[in-house]
Amino acid sequence: MIDLHGKRAIVTGAASGIGRATAALLAELGAAVVLLDLDAERGEQAAKEIGGTFVRCDVSRRADCERAVSTAVEQHGGVDVLFNNAGIIRRSTVTEISDEDWDLVMAVNVRSIMLLSGLVVPLMAASGGGSIVNTGSGWGIKGGGRAISYCASKGAVVNMTRAMAIDHGPDNIRVNCVCPGDTDTGMLAEEARQLGESPDAFYTDAADRPLGRIGRPRDIAQTVAFLASDAAAFVSGAVIAVDGAGTA
Ligand code: NAD
Repeated sequence: MIDLHGKRAIVTGAASGIGRATAALLAELGAAVVLLDLDAERGEQAAKEIGGTFVRCDVSRRADCERAVSTAVEQHGGVDVLFNNAGIIRRSTVTEISDEDWDLVMAVNVRSIMLLSGLVVPLMAASGGGSIVNTGSGWGIKGGGRAISYCASKGAVVNMTRAMAIDHGPDNIRVNCVCPGDTDTGMLAEEARQLGESPDAFYTDAADRPLGRIGRPRDIAQTVAFLASDAAAFVSGAVIAVDGAGTA
């Protein structure tokens, strides 16, 4: 059984999709949860429904991350679980992408993990350890079309997970990565909008769907809850596809 009573968690991108579902599940399992997101309205609403604390935070900005971690420490006295999940996508090839979009995707998807983990690792080390979970993607394991910055960023997330697990294992900090396949969140509608296509294709396309469906946010949340818990005490440096065999 997964029991998170006594755990103090930070979840990024917690206003919607995978982050929201995970914040809700961690709270259900007993954790005290601080929800971070750019979207204050939806973030506040999520925190109210889940029973956590919301902090508006642009995870790509150091000052915002410092303020968010300070709030978590003031509220709960420390951090045991960090779910680095906020992410964005730009659907473009290397010939189409602008410098600004490249930098933005890398800042939100990759620099955020450096910033927040850099702030949280010393706290975890001082309190005997912790669990960091990063959201990668199937496109961090294999390539995907017209998503050059996203694929680069998620490849980076996968390998920085391993590097962090090596660096901070001696402080009893476990670092793992979940790699969702297509999952039913606002990101799919956003991708369809960028590609000028109907979002229906994501739901009806049979390719890469051995289990016959796309993911639900709760599917990813269940894996994160396990990785956050003491049940995963010897799991670190792992890259776990949660995609119904989509990358198999
Ligand atoms: P989503 O759009 O529903 O949620 C992303 C959240 O991140 C939003 O609430 C958004 O406001 C927030 N966010 C964006 N930029 C931010 C910033 N700078 N600072 C703070 N918050 C910010 O999408 P989702 O599908 O739940 O995405 C969560 C993670 O899952 C992302 O890292 C995404 O790349 C990854 N992922 C999603 C899928 C999928 O099919 N949905 C597949 C693989 C990986």
